[in-house]
Amino acid sequence: MDKKQQLKDLHENWSEKCKCELKKTATQPVPGDGNPEAEIVFIGEAPGKQEDLQGRPFVGAAGKFFNEMLGGIKMRREDIYITNIVKYRPPNNRDPEPAEKEDCIKWLYEELNLINPKLIVFLGRHSMMYFFPTEKISDVHGKLLVKKFKNIKTKHFLPLYHPAAALYNGSMRETLINDFKKIPLILKKIKSIQG
Ligand code: URA
Repeated sequence: MDKKQQLKDLHENWSEKCKCELKKTATQPVPGDGNPEAEIVFIGEAPGKQEDLQGRPFVGAAGKFFNEMLGGIKMRREDIYITNIVKYRPPNNRDPEPAEKEDCIKWLYEELNLINPKLIVFLGRHSMMYFFPTEKISDVHGKLLVKKFKNIKTKHFLPLYHPAAALYNGSMRETLINDFKKIPLILKKIKSIQG
């Protein structure tokens, strides 16, 4: 079975068995989306209104800004994979609760290990802090973190500000755009180490 089909099966399976409480209020699950062979996986926070309605991640205003930054490094959505730590929209876009992240985490681990990217990019503090709870996004944004976790194969991580947080904040927006531009060089470095 090819990876695309495996990923489709994985999402169908988890949509059934995920115990997340947010299932009760969300329109539908929002699984990850993109290239199953991607070298980079982006992890956001949770679906917003548009994502909940369309069933796809990053299709609203933050997604539009994300696509522009991707274009700036000569990549398209079809080249990467993008997902969220929580797969269901929290009511009124409130922050996801720790228990909601916990309920969705095995779904995330499985998609990460199937794709096995060279680099995982955190979009915002929610996804970063699940993996690096003691780091502050204001200290580590744009810096490569290297760590071996027992649940995932990828060892290289890049925290970035969340596109929704940066969208209307001039200085954060500029920082995010500049950090985003570091991605090609960081990926090149990882590939030169790993071969
Ligand atoms: N913000 C996120 O974190 N994820 C989405 O899918 C959309 C907005």
